[in-house]
Amino acid sequence: MIRYTTIPAILSLLLLVSCSNESEAPVATQAGAETNAGPSIEEVSVAMGLDNVDSLMFTGTAWRIRNSFRQTLTASPPWPERDQISNWTQAIDLNAPAMLGSGDTFSSNLFFDPPAVGTHVINVPANTESWRQQLEIWLTPWGFVKGAQRFEAQSSAVEMDGISYTMFTFLSPESMISPSGMRYTVNGYVNTDNLVVRTETWVEDAFMGDMRVVGVYDDYMSYNGLMVPLSIEQQRGEGGVFGIDVSSASANPTNLSSLIPAPESSAGERGSPPASEVPADLTQALGDGAWLVGGGYQAMVVEFTDHLAVFESGQSESRGEQIIQQIRDNISDKEIRYIINSHPHSDHTAGLVPFIREGATLVTHDNNVDFLRMALTTSRTLLGEETFVPEVMGISGVGVMEDESNRIELHAVPNLHTDGMLVALLPSQGVLFQADFTLPQPGAEANPFVKTLARYIEESDVQFEQYLAVHAAQVEQTRNDLLATIANE
Ligand SMILES: [Zn+2]
Repeated sequence: MIRYTTIPAILSLLLLVSCSNESEAPVATQAGAETNAGPSIEEVSVAMGLDNVDSLMFTGTAWRIRNSFRQTLTASPPWPERDQISNWTQAIDLNAPAMLGSGDTFSSNLFFDPPAVGTHVINVPANTESWRQQLEIWLTPWGFVKGAQRFEAQSSAVEMDGISYTMFTFLSPESMISPSGMRYTVNGYVNTDNLVVRTETWVEDAFMGDMRVVGVYDDYMSYNGLMVPLSIEQQRGEGGVFGIDVSSASANPTNLSSLIPAPESSAGERGSPPASEVPADLTQALGDGAWLVGGGYQAMVVEFTDHLAVFESGQSESRGEQIIQQIRDNISDKEIRYIINSHPHSDHTAGLVPFIREGATLVTHDNNVDFLRMALTTSRTLLGEETFVPEVMGISGVGVMEDESNRIELHAVPNLHTDGMLVALLPSQGVLFQADFTLPQPGAEANPFVKTLARYIEESDVQFEQYLAVHAAQVEQTRNDLLATIANE
Protein backbone atom coordinates (compact mmCIF):
# COMPACT_ATOMS: atom_id res chain seq x y z
CA MET A 1 0.00 0.00 0.00
CA ILE A 2 1.46 3.32 -1.01
CA ARG A 3 0.97 6.24 1.28
CA TYR A 4 0.55 9.42 -0.71
CA THR A 5 1.60 12.60 0.88
CA THR A 6 1.40 15.95 -0.77
CA ILE A 7 4.24 18.38 -0.62
CA PRO A 8 2.19 21.09 1.13
CA ALA A 9 1.58 18.62 3.95
CA ILE A 10 5.24 17.72 4.10
CA LEU A 11 6.15 21.39 3.97
CA SER A 12 4.10 22.23 7.00
CA LEU A 13 5.45 19.29 8.96
CA LEU A 14 9.01 18.97 7.91
CA LEU A 15 10.28 22.14 6.30
CA LEU A 16 12.91 23.06 8.77
CA VAL A 17 15.33 25.92 8.55
CA SER A 18 18.80 25.21 9.73
CA CYS A 19 19.98 26.72 12.94
CA SER A 20 22.69 24.62 14.48
CA ASN A 21 26.28 23.97 13.71
CA GLU A 22 28.45 20.87 13.97
CA SER A 23 31.23 22.48 15.94
CA GLU A 24 32.72 25.82 16.67
CA ALA A 25 34.40 27.60 13.82
CA PRO A 26 38.12 27.08 13.59
CA VAL A 27 38.96 30.55 14.78
CA ALA A 28 42.49 30.70 16.05
CA THR A 29 42.87 31.09 19.78
CA GLN A 30 44.43 34.49 20.24
CA ALA A 31 47.94 34.74 21.60
CA GLY A 32 47.90 35.81 25.22
CA ALA A 33 45.08 33.47 26.17
CA GLU A 34 44.83 33.18 29.90
CA THR A 35 47.38 30.94 31.42
CA ASN A 36 46.20 28.45 33.97
CA ALA A 37 47.63 26.39 36.75
CA GLY A 38 47.88 23.36 34.45
CA PRO A 39 51.08 21.81 33.17
CA SER A 40 53.45 23.38 30.67
CA ILE A 41 53.89 21.62 27.34
CA GLU A 42 57.41 20.69 28.53
CA GLU A 43 55.87 18.88 31.49
CA VAL A 44 53.49 17.09 29.12
CA SER A 45 56.45 16.05 26.97
CA VAL A 46 58.15 14.56 30.04
CA ALA A 47 55.00 12.72 31.11
CA MET A 48 54.53 11.34 27.59
CA GLY A 49 58.18 10.15 27.59
CA LEU A 50 58.86 12.22 24.48
CA ASP A 51 61.88 14.34 25.45
CA ASN A 52 64.44 12.30 23.54
CA VAL A 53 62.09 10.81 20.99
CA ASP A 54 62.46 11.73 17.31
CA SER A 55 60.45 8.84 15.90
CA LEU A 56 58.37 5.90 17.01
CA MET A 57 56.60 2.85 15.70
CA PHE A 58 53.78 0.66 16.90
CA THR A 59 51.88 -2.41 15.79
CA GLY A 60 48.46 -3.89 16.41
CA THR A 61 45.14 -4.44 14.74
CA ALA A 62 42.97 -1.73 13.24
CA TRP A 63 39.55 -1.15 11.73
CA ARG A 64 38.16 1.19 9.15
CA ILE A 65 34.66 2.31 8.39
CA ARG A 66 33.15 0.05 5.72
CA ASN A 67 33.29 1.50 2.17
CA SER A 68 34.46 4.93 3.34
CA PHE A 69 33.40 8.09 5.09
CA ARG A 70 29.99 9.20 3.76
CA GLN A 71 29.42 5.89 1.93
CA THR A 72 27.71 4.27 4.87
CA LEU A 73 24.39 2.52 5.35
CA THR A 74 23.07 5.38 7.50
CA ALA A 75 23.95 9.02 6.89
CA SER A 76 24.33 9.87 10.59
CA PRO A 77 26.76 8.10 12.94
CA PRO A 78 27.31 5.72 14.56
CA TRP A 79 28.51 3.66 11.62
CA PRO A 80 28.86 0.14 13.06
CA GLU A 81 29.79 -1.56 9.76
CA ARG A 82 33.58 -1.89 9.88
CA ASP A 83 36.32 -3.80 8.12
CA GLN A 84 39.09 -5.28 10.24
CA ILE A 85 42.77 -4.68 9.47
CA SER A 86 45.39 -7.12 10.68
CA ASN A 87 49.18 -6.75 10.94
CA TRP A 88 48.88 -3.00 11.37
CA THR A 89 52.29 -1.29 11.52
CA GLN A 90 52.68 2.46 11.83
CA ALA A 91 55.82 4.58 12.07
CA ILE A 92 56.11 8.32 12.61
CA ASP A 93 59.14 10.51 11.92
CA LEU A 94 58.35 13.46 14.19
CA ASN A 95 61.03 15.69 12.67
CA ALA A 96 60.33 15.39 8.94
CA PRO A 97 57.40 15.02 9.72
CA ALA A 98 56.39 11.86 7.88
CA MET A 99 54.25 8.85 8.65
CA LEU A 100 53.41 5.52 7.12
CA GLY A 101 50.90 2.99 8.37
CA SER A 102 49.69 -0.12 6.63
CA GLY A 103 47.91 -3.39 7.28
CA ASP A 104 46.02 -6.23 5.62
CA THR A 105 42.31 -5.90 5.06
CA PHE A 106 39.68 -8.38 4.05
CA SER A 107 37.01 -5.86 3.30
CA SER A 108 33.40 -6.11 2.27
CA ASN A 109 32.12 -3.65 -0.28
CA LEU A 110 28.63 -2.19 -0.28
CA PHE A 111 27.50 -4.74 2.30
CA PHE A 112 27.06 -7.74 0.05
CA ASP A 113 29.93 -8.35 -2.36
CA PRO A 114 32.34 -11.13 -1.49
CA PRO A 115 35.03 -9.66 0.78
CA ALA A 116 38.18 -8.60 -1.08
CA VAL A 117 41.77 -8.94 0.11
CA GLY A 118 43.63 -5.65 0.19
CA THR A 119 46.03 -3.34 2.00
CA HIS A 120 44.96 -0.28 3.91
CA VAL A 121 47.59 2.47 3.85
CA ILE A 122 47.92 5.86 5.51
CA ASN A 123 50.86 7.65 3.92
CA VAL A 124 52.02 11.13 4.86
CA PRO A 125 55.24 11.74 2.91
CA ALA A 126 57.76 14.26 4.22
CA ASN A 127 57.31 17.77 2.86
CA THR A 128 53.71 17.20 1.86
CA GLU A 129 51.96 20.52 1.45
CA SER A 130 48.56 19.01 2.12
CA TRP A 131 47.02 19.78 5.49
CA ARG A 132 44.54 16.99 4.82
CA GLN A 133 47.52 14.60 4.95
CA GLN A 134 49.66 16.37 7.58
CA LEU A 135 46.87 16.55 10.13
CA GLU A 136 47.22 12.76 10.46
CA ILE A 137 50.57 13.42 12.18
CA TRP A 138 49.66 16.50 14.24
CA LEU A 139 46.58 14.73 15.61
CA THR A 140 48.60 11.83 17.04
CA PRO A 141 49.41 12.40 20.73
CA TRP A 142 53.16 12.51 19.96
CA GLY A 143 52.84 14.72 16.90
CA PHE A 144 50.59 17.02 18.87
CA VAL A 145 53.14 17.52 21.67
CA LYS A 146 55.99 18.16 19.20
CA GLY A 147 53.79 20.58 17.23
CA ALA A 148 52.71 22.36 20.41
CA GLN A 149 56.38 22.86 21.32
CA ARG A 150 57.47 23.88 17.82
CA PHE A 151 54.59 26.28 17.17
CA GLU A 152 54.40 27.74 20.68
CA ALA A 153 51.01 26.54 21.85
CA GLN A 154 48.85 28.56 24.21
CA SER A 155 47.11 26.77 27.04
CA SER A 156 43.85 27.20 28.89
CA ALA A 157 41.69 25.28 31.36
CA VAL A 158 38.64 23.63 29.83
CA GLU A 159 35.93 21.27 30.98
CA MET A 160 34.48 18.50 28.87
CA ASP A 161 31.71 16.17 30.10
CA GLY A 162 32.32 17.42 33.63
CA ILE A 163 36.05 16.62 33.59
CA SER A 164 38.76 19.29 33.69
CA TYR A 165 41.56 19.34 31.13
CA THR A 166 44.33 21.63 30.06
CA MET A 167 43.83 22.49 26.41
CA PHE A 168 46.84 23.45 24.31
CA THR A 169 46.25 25.23 21.00
CA PHE A 170 48.66 25.90 18.18
CA LEU A 171 48.43 27.01 14.57
CA SER A 172 49.78 25.29 11.48
CA PRO A 173 53.04 26.71 10.05
CA GLU A 174 52.71 29.94 8.11
CA SER A 175 53.42 28.05 4.92
CA MET A 176 50.38 25.85 5.40
CA ILE A 177 47.18 27.80 5.03
CA SER A 178 43.61 27.19 3.92
CA PRO A 179 42.18 28.46 0.60
CA SER A 180 40.93 31.53 2.48
CA GLY A 181 44.43 32.20 3.87
CA MET A 182 43.84 30.97 7.43
CA ARG A 183 46.35 28.93 9.41
CA TYR A 184 44.78 25.73 10.71
CA THR A 185 44.00 25.39 14.44
CA VAL A 186 45.04 22.29 16.39
CA ASN A 187 43.77 21.66 19.91
CA GLY A 188 44.93 18.98 22.33
CA TYR A 189 43.33 18.04 25.65
CA VAL A 190 45.67 16.94 28.43
CA ASN A 191 44.38 15.10 31.50
CA THR A 192 45.59 15.32 35.09
CA ASP A 193 48.24 12.66 34.36
CA ASN A 194 49.62 15.09 31.72
CA LEU A 195 48.67 12.70 28.92
CA VAL A 196 47.06 13.76 25.62
CA VAL A 197 43.63 12.16 25.52
CA ARG A 198 42.00 14.06 22.66
CA THR A 199 43.10 16.22 19.74
CA GLU A 200 41.15 18.08 17.09
CA THR A 201 41.62 20.21 14.01
CA TRP A 202 39.51 21.45 11.12
CA VAL A 203 40.09 20.99 7.41
CA GLU A 204 38.18 22.52 4.53
CA ASP A 205 35.80 20.24 2.69
CA ALA A 206 33.70 21.31 -0.27
CA PHE A 207 30.66 19.58 1.20
CA MET A 208 31.31 19.43 4.96
CA GLY A 209 32.63 23.01 5.24
CA ASP A 210 35.08 23.45 8.14
CA MET A 211 35.18 19.73 8.86
CA ARG A 212 36.31 18.80 12.36
CA VAL A 213 38.67 15.83 12.63
CA VAL A 214 39.13 14.41 16.14
CA GLY A 215 41.66 11.97 17.63
CA VAL A 216 40.59 10.08 20.78
CA TYR A 217 43.28 8.33 22.88
CA ASP A 218 42.57 5.98 25.74
CA ASP A 219 44.16 3.34 27.95
CA TYR A 220 47.76 4.59 28.08
CA MET A 221 50.63 2.21 28.70
CA SER A 222 54.37 2.75 29.02
CA TYR A 223 56.69 1.07 26.52
CA ASN A 224 60.11 1.67 28.06
CA GLY A 225 58.99 5.14 29.08
CA LEU A 226 57.18 6.06 25.87
CA MET A 227 53.51 6.56 26.69
CA VAL A 228 51.23 4.93 24.13
CA PRO A 229 47.40 4.79 24.10
CA LEU A 230 46.30 1.21 23.50
CA SER A 231 43.07 2.54 21.99
CA ILE A 232 43.19 5.07 19.14
CA GLU A 233 40.19 6.39 17.22
CA GLN A 234 39.74 9.07 14.59
CA GLN A 235 36.36 10.74 14.11
CA ARG A 236 34.94 12.75 11.22
CA GLY A 237 31.41 14.06 10.89
CA GLU A 238 31.08 13.21 14.63
CA GLY A 239 31.51 9.46 14.06
CA GLY A 240 34.42 7.02 14.27
CA VAL A 241 36.03 6.31 10.89
CA PHE A 242 39.30 4.57 11.81
CA GLY A 243 40.78 3.00 14.89
CA ILE A 244 43.77 1.03 16.18
CA ASP A 245 44.25 -1.41 19.06
CA VAL A 246 47.94 -1.15 19.84
CA SER A 247 49.83 -4.29 20.92
CA SER A 248 53.46 -3.15 20.86
CA ALA A 249 55.40 0.09 20.49
CA SER A 250 58.90 1.48 20.63
CA ALA A 251 60.66 4.83 20.46
CA ASN A 252 63.41 5.75 17.99
CA PRO A 253 63.29 2.52 15.93
CA THR A 254 66.66 1.83 14.34
CA ASN A 255 65.02 0.69 11.11
CA LEU A 256 63.07 3.93 10.60
CA SER A 257 64.24 4.32 7.00
CA SER A 258 62.73 0.96 6.09
CA LEU A 259 59.54 1.68 8.03
CA ILE A 260 59.11 4.99 6.17
CA PRO A 261 60.96 4.58 2.85
CA ALA A 262 61.82 7.76 0.98
CA PRO A 263 59.27 8.29 -1.78
CA GLU A 264 60.37 7.38 -5.26
CA SER A 265 60.88 10.42 -7.44
CA SER A 266 57.95 10.84 -9.75
CA ALA A 267 58.84 9.59 -13.19
CA GLY A 268 58.41 11.86 -16.14
CA GLU A 269 56.34 14.96 -16.49
CA ARG A 270 52.67 14.76 -16.09
CA GLY A 271 51.22 16.98 -18.74
CA SER A 272 47.81 18.40 -18.10
CA PRO A 273 45.13 16.24 -19.64
CA PRO A 274 43.67 17.51 -22.88
CA ALA A 275 40.70 19.73 -22.28
CA SER A 276 37.76 17.51 -22.98
CA GLU A 277 35.25 18.87 -25.40
CA VAL A 278 31.96 19.31 -23.63
CA PRO A 279 29.08 19.25 -26.09
CA ALA A 280 27.06 22.44 -25.98
CA ASP A 281 23.88 20.59 -25.22
CA LEU A 282 23.90 17.58 -22.90
CA THR A 283 20.16 17.62 -22.36
CA GLN A 284 17.66 15.17 -23.73
CA ALA A 285 13.90 15.70 -23.65
CA LEU A 286 11.85 13.05 -21.82
CA GLY A 287 8.55 14.60 -22.89
CA ASP A 288 6.08 16.92 -21.09
CA GLY A 289 8.48 19.30 -19.35
CA ALA A 290 11.09 16.75 -18.31
CA TRP A 291 14.70 16.41 -19.38
CA LEU A 292 17.73 14.27 -18.69
CA VAL A 293 21.08 16.07 -18.33
CA GLY A 294 23.70 13.64 -19.62
CA GLY A 295 27.45 13.49 -19.05
CA GLY A 296 28.96 12.17 -15.81
CA TYR A 297 26.35 11.51 -13.18
CA GLN A 298 23.04 12.17 -14.92
CA ALA A 299 20.41 14.50 -13.52
CA MET A 300 16.72 14.86 -14.30
CA VAL A 301 14.97 18.23 -14.60
CA VAL A 302 11.21 18.66 -14.21
CA GLU A 303 9.46 21.89 -15.11
CA PHE A 304 6.48 23.22 -13.19
CA THR A 305 4.46 26.37 -13.89
CA ASP A 306 6.76 28.75 -12.07
CA HIS A 307 9.77 26.70 -11.03
CA LEU A 308 11.99 23.71 -11.69
CA ALA A 309 12.82 20.64 -9.62
CA VAL A 310 16.08 18.78 -10.26
CA PHE A 311 16.70 15.18 -9.21
CA GLU A 312 20.41 14.53 -8.50
CA SER A 313 23.18 17.11 -8.50
CA GLY A 314 26.27 15.31 -9.78
CA GLN A 315 29.36 13.81 -8.20
CA SER A 316 31.32 17.03 -7.70
CA GLU A 317 30.88 20.72 -7.22
CA SER A 318 31.95 21.40 -10.81
CA ARG A 319 29.49 18.85 -12.17
CA GLY A 320 26.72 20.52 -10.13
CA GLU A 321 27.68 23.84 -11.72
CA GLN A 322 27.66 22.21 -15.15
CA ILE A 323 24.16 20.81 -14.60
CA ILE A 324 22.91 24.28 -13.64
CA GLN A 325 24.61 25.78 -16.71
CA GLN A 326 23.03 23.12 -18.93
CA ILE A 327 19.63 23.97 -17.47
CA ARG A 328 20.14 27.68 -18.07
CA ASP A 329 21.50 27.26 -21.59
CA ASN A 330 19.16 24.57 -22.87
CA ILE A 331 16.07 24.21 -20.70
CA SER A 332 14.73 27.12 -18.71
CA ASP A 333 15.48 30.28 -16.73
CA LYS A 334 12.88 29.42 -14.09
CA GLU A 335 13.86 29.31 -10.43
CA ILE A 336 15.41 25.98 -9.37
CA ARG A 337 13.26 25.63 -6.28
CA TYR A 338 14.03 22.03 -5.33
CA ILE A 339 17.17 19.93 -5.57
CA ILE A 340 16.26 16.33 -4.81
CA ASN A 341 18.97 14.03 -3.46
CA SER A 342 18.70 10.32 -4.28
CA HIS A 343 20.76 9.25 -1.26
CA PRO A 344 23.42 10.67 1.06
CA HIS A 345 26.58 9.00 -0.30
CA SER A 346 29.44 11.39 -0.99
CA ASP A 347 29.37 10.92 -4.77
CA HIS A 348 25.67 11.78 -4.84
CA THR A 349 25.88 14.84 -2.60
CA ALA A 350 29.06 16.66 -3.69
CA GLY A 351 27.16 18.49 -6.43
CA LEU A 352 24.50 19.82 -4.04
CA VAL A 353 26.53 22.86 -3.01
CA PRO A 354 26.02 24.92 -6.23
CA PHE A 355 22.27 24.29 -5.97
CA ILE A 356 22.26 25.39 -2.32
CA ARG A 357 24.08 28.57 -3.41
CA GLU A 358 21.25 29.10 -5.92
CA GLY A 359 18.81 29.01 -3.01
CA ALA A 360 17.23 25.66 -3.87
CA THR A 361 15.50 23.71 -1.09
CA LEU A 362 17.19 20.35 -0.50
CA VAL A 363 14.73 17.46 -0.63
CA THR A 364 16.02 14.15 0.74
CA HIS A 365 14.88 11.05 2.61
CA ASP A 366 13.90 11.76 6.21
CA ASN A 367 16.79 9.66 7.48
CA ASN A 368 19.37 11.97 5.83
CA VAL A 369 17.99 15.29 7.02
CA ASP A 370 20.02 15.63 10.23
CA PHE A 371 23.39 14.75 8.72
CA LEU A 372 23.00 16.73 5.50
CA ARG A 373 21.77 19.76 7.39
CA MET A 374 24.65 19.51 9.85
CA ALA A 375 27.15 19.31 6.97
CA LEU A 376 25.64 22.10 4.92
CA THR A 377 25.22 24.52 7.83
CA THR A 378 28.74 24.08 9.15
CA SER A 379 30.79 27.25 8.86
CA ARG A 380 32.96 27.56 5.71
CA THR A 381 35.63 29.98 6.94
CA LEU A 382 38.55 27.86 5.69
CA LEU A 383 37.05 28.05 2.21
CA GLY A 384 36.40 31.79 2.57
CA GLU A 385 32.68 31.42 2.11
CA GLU A 386 29.60 32.50 4.05
CA THR A 387 27.78 29.79 6.00
CA PHE A 388 24.82 28.40 4.08
CA VAL A 389 21.28 28.64 5.46
CA PRO A 390 19.62 25.93 3.38
CA GLU A 391 16.07 24.75 3.69
CA VAL A 392 16.00 20.97 4.02
CA MET A 393 12.87 18.91 3.48
CA GLY A 394 12.53 15.26 4.51
CA ILE A 395 10.49 12.67 2.67
CA SER A 396 9.27 9.30 3.90
CA GLY A 397 6.84 6.96 2.20
CA VAL A 398 5.92 8.71 -1.03
CA GLY A 399 6.27 12.44 -1.54
CA VAL A 400 4.50 14.13 -4.42
CA MET A 401 5.38 17.39 -6.12
CA GLU A 402 2.55 18.43 -8.35
CA ASP A 403 0.87 21.35 -10.04
CA GLU A 404 -1.36 21.61 -13.12
CA SER A 405 1.62 21.15 -15.44
CA ASN A 406 3.62 18.28 -13.99
CA ARG A 407 4.00 15.64 -11.29
CA ILE A 408 6.92 13.85 -9.62
CA GLU A 409 6.51 11.07 -7.11
CA LEU A 410 9.43 10.48 -4.79
CA HIS A 411 9.40 6.94 -3.45
CA ALA A 412 11.45 6.02 -0.39
CA VAL A 413 12.69 2.51 -1.17
CA PRO A 414 14.13 0.59 1.80
CA ASN A 415 17.31 -1.25 0.77
CA LEU A 416 20.74 -2.39 1.96
CA HIS A 417 22.74 0.21 0.04
CA THR A 418 21.50 3.07 2.21
CA ASP A 419 18.55 3.60 4.53
CA GLY A 420 17.93 6.99 2.92
CA MET A 421 17.08 6.27 -0.73
CA LEU A 422 14.58 8.07 -2.96
CA VAL A 423 13.70 7.15 -6.55
CA ALA A 424 11.71 9.47 -8.82
CA LEU A 425 8.67 8.46 -10.84
CA LEU A 426 7.27 10.70 -13.61
CA PRO A 427 3.87 9.09 -14.18
CA SER A 428 2.83 11.03 -17.29
CA GLN A 429 6.24 10.63 -18.97
CA GLY A 430 6.43 6.96 -17.97
CA VAL A 431 9.90 7.32 -16.45
CA LEU A 432 11.50 5.90 -13.33
CA PHE A 433 14.81 7.62 -12.48
CA GLN A 434 17.09 6.10 -9.85
CA ALA A 435 20.66 5.97 -8.55
CA ASP A 436 22.75 2.86 -7.87
CA PHE A 437 20.02 0.30 -8.67
CA THR A 438 22.10 -0.82 -11.63
CA LEU A 439 20.72 -3.75 -13.63
CA PRO A 440 23.04 -6.74 -14.06
CA GLN A 441 24.91 -7.55 -17.25
CA PRO A 442 23.03 -10.06 -19.41
CA GLY A 443 23.20 -13.50 -17.79
CA ALA A 444 24.52 -12.18 -14.48
CA GLU A 445 22.70 -12.32 -11.17
CA ALA A 446 21.16 -9.02 -9.99
CA ASN A 447 22.47 -7.56 -6.75
CA PRO A 448 20.19 -7.47 -3.70
CA PHE A 449 19.49 -3.72 -4.02
CA VAL A 450 18.03 -4.09 -7.50
CA LYS A 451 15.88 -7.00 -6.37
CA THR A 452 14.55 -4.92 -3.48
CA LEU A 453 13.54 -2.18 -5.91
CA ALA A 454 11.98 -4.70 -8.30
CA ARG A 455 9.90 -6.20 -5.47
CA TYR A 456 8.83 -2.72 -4.38
CA ILE A 457 7.78 -1.76 -7.92
CA GLU A 458 5.85 -4.99 -8.35
CA GLU A 459 4.13 -4.95 -4.95
CA SER A 460 3.26 -1.25 -5.17
CA ASP A 461 2.16 -1.58 -8.80
CA VAL A 462 4.29 1.38 -9.86
CA GLN A 463 3.91 1.82 -13.62
CA PHE A 464 6.46 3.25 -16.09
CA GLU A 465 8.16 2.41 -19.37
CA GLN A 466 11.68 3.80 -19.24
CA TYR A 467 14.10 2.77 -16.47
CA LEU A 468 16.66 5.59 -16.33
CA ALA A 469 19.73 5.87 -14.14
CA VAL A 470 22.04 8.44 -12.63
CA HIS A 471 24.77 6.05 -13.82
CA ALA A 472 23.78 5.88 -17.48
CA ALA A 473 23.20 2.41 -18.94
CA GLN A 474 24.58 1.62 -22.38
CA VAL A 475 21.26 0.26 -23.58
CA GLU A 476 17.65 1.30 -23.13
CA GLN A 477 16.09 -0.33 -20.08
CA THR A 478 12.48 -0.83 -19.09
CA ARG A 479 10.23 -1.83 -16.21
CA ASN A 480 10.24 -5.38 -17.59
CA ASP A 481 14.06 -5.48 -17.43
CA LEU A 482 13.84 -4.51 -13.77
CA LEU A 483 11.14 -7.09 -12.98
CA ALA A 484 13.13 -9.79 -14.79
CA THR A 485 15.65 -9.66 -11.91
CA ILE A 486 13.05 -11.32 -9.64
CA ALA A 487 11.38 -13.50 -12.29
CA ASN A 488 12.64 -16.74 -10.72
CA GLU A 489 11.58 -16.00 -7.16
ZN1 LIG B 1 25.50 4.98 -3.32
